[in-house]
Amino acid sequence: MTKTSSHTPIHVIGGGLAGSEAAWQIAETGVPVILHEMRGVRGTDAHKTDSLAELVCSNSFRSDDATSNAVGVLHAEMRLAGSLIMRSADANQVPAGGALAVDRDGFSAAVTAALESHPLITITREEVAGLPPEDWDQAIIATGPLTAPSLAAAIQARTGADSLAFFDAIAPIVHTASIDMDICWFQSRYDKVGPGGTGKDYINCPMDEAQYNAFVDALIAGDTTGFKEWEGTPYFDGCLPIEVMAERGRETLRHGPMKPMGLTNAHNPTVKAYAVVQLRQDNALGTLYNMVGFQTKLKYGAQAEIFRLIPGLENAEFARLGGLHRNTYINSPTLLDRSLTLKGRPGLRFAGQITGCEGYVESASIGLLAGRFAAAERLGQTLSLPPETTAFGALLNHITGGHIVSDDEPGKRSFQPMNINFGLFPPLEPGAVVRPEGLKRFRGKDKAVAKKQATAARALEDCARWLGR
Ligand SMILES: Cc1cc2nc3c(=O)[nH]c(=O)nc-3n(C[C@H](O)[C@H](O)[C@H](O)COP(=O)(O)OP(=O)(O)OC[C@H]3O[C@@H](n4cnc5c(N)ncnc54)[C@H](O)[C@@H]3O)c2cc1C
Repeated sequence: MTKTSSHTPIHVIGGGLAGSEAAWQIAETGVPVILHEMRGVRGTDAHKTDSLAELVCSNSFRSDDATSNAVGVLHAEMRLAGSLIMRSADANQVPAGGALAVDRDGFSAAVTAALESHPLITITREEVAGLPPEDWDQAIIATGPLTAPSLAAAIQARTGADSLAFFDAIAPIVHTASIDMDICWFQSRYDKVGPGGTGKDYINCPMDEAQYNAFVDALIAGDTTGFKEWEGTPYFDGCLPIEVMAERGRETLRHGPMKPMGLTNAHNPTVKAYAVVQLRQDNALGTLYNMVGFQTKLKYGAQAEIFRLIPGLENAEFARLGGLHRNTYINSPTLLDRSLTLKGRPGLRFAGQITGCEGYVESASIGLLAGRFAAAERLGQTLSLPPETTAFGALLNHITGGHIVSDDEPGKRSFQPMNINFGLFPPLEPGAVVRPEGLKRFRGKDKAVAKKQATAARALEDCARWLGR
């Protein structure tokens, strides 16, 4: 039974991080919600309880530093927006230095109790086995990385075979500013312009024979993570981890993703590189580049160490490291509009990790936005989008449009899930980074820190304005 309100309820499918937050945000506007959660009737391969908003792995929400860390900024914005997930995390905090870590049982219990006792929220324990019926005129699918197979199949049937991925094969993404352009150069292979290109679309890192051999040795010796049992997803052709390719033969990479053909080192035109690592622009802002063909199962520490052997990447800062995980997510940049609605199906939104964000906090924040958008629609109001300068807006922009779909590798695989990071924020206005009084010039990493601080301050100011605070 729907609890009393003059409005027709909005259906939220999935009571994880995103669905719980979406339900809360909707109900707080006075619109009733029916939250459908299958656990209790059917489990997943990773969840262990029937509690809402269960944390399936780590108990950390990562950095809580809102002055110079992107996820800390997202925490702060969510608190400003009255997030249930953040309120429950704050109330169940355990000591973890600068990070926000929680007692996982206390956290989930707090979310569950708040949702169960809300007068406008009804929780039903059932699997939604297909797309929401048309008479659910407003619905949010927030079924996460382990979406039940029947619903995943229905989403795929509706959106097309290429639109749903079942695991992510992630290549590392590097902050452009950390690449040494005295060593690297911009050039597309054979200077091909292609549709929408310039002939200088890639950043190229050259290697001589000795560097290449040392790199291959490091890859083969590198520490890898094993697939967990529930991750029994096979590799598919064209998406092999870089270290697996290296193991297949010393020359494999030189004839694959690291081939040097069609490239001339702008800094040393007469010397042909023995191998070349290419990076391709990853976001519309040009602040992030991904390492082409470098999907990997190497452990994070090993990745950073090995990839910094690449000439030009010695000081690379990674916006995200590579990985290979089981994960169900849609090709959001082509399927969703800016308010997270499935194109061609008004009233049906997606939220959480299934949209291609990554992480507890990011998933909850996209749930928060989807909930607010849906409630505004039900109430006949227009909700402006969060400014792109905010963490909310930067993440939403990545999911719904900021990502570049490349011409030579189109489709779902070029859109990969991402945590919030400063590379997703628009650059600062000139003059926004001010040197402290008396300081003639920035030293070491001080300028980078000052930039993060200015970006964070701008985000929080713009978010408060967006929320009318
Ligand atoms: C094994 C594993 C480990 C992870 N570790 C971390 C980590 O350490 N840190 C981190 O930040 N992120 C981690 N993640 C990512 C994490 O899943 C997401 O960050 C977050 O839980 C996603 O939130 P969500 O709400 O989108 O999905 P979930 O929290 O998974 O919630 C989705 C909910 O939908 C339900 N559901 C699915 N299908 C249906 C259906 N058809 N009908 C009804 N209900 C359905 C599920 O039971 C689930 O409760 C991990 C993911 C996995 C799979």
